[in-house]
Amino acid sequence: MPEKTIFEKILDGEIPSESVFEDENVYAFRDVNPQAPVHVLVIPKSKLTGFADLATADLVTVGRFMQEVARVAGKLGLEEEGYRIVFNQGKNGQQTVAYLHAHILGGRRMSWPPG
Ligand code: 5GP
Repeated sequence: MPEKTIFEKILDGEIPSESVFEDENVYAFRDVNPQAPVHVLVIPKSKLTGFADLATADLVTVGRFMQEVARVAGKLGLEEEGYRIVFNQGKNGQQTVAYLHAHILGGRRMSWPPG
């Protein structure tokens, strides 16, 4: 068995996390090292290793995950002021956890270009 990622350990309750939303498809929790006043990670409960996996995932999985990310942002009260969604993919994307996750960042004006 390959070693579990941090997010699998979080899903399995082996590492504590601060939940903000959960249903049968996704788990959303606060990032341990927030980069904005609101910084939440949304992960699918069925493992995908990163954004690139969405290229071959079935459309229901892809569409549902995107809808859930948008819903979590709404539940966080970010819709009116806006927010940023980030998917870091691979080495150049600075992905550090090999388990698909959307970053929801809000509560301040973001800058562009990203670092
Ligand atoms: P990545 O760089 O892979 O896109 O993002 C991984 C994110 O996971 C980082 O923002 C990092 O702060 C967060 N993270 C890493 N370990 C933990 C943890 O144990 N708990 C929580 N809540 N977030 C974590």
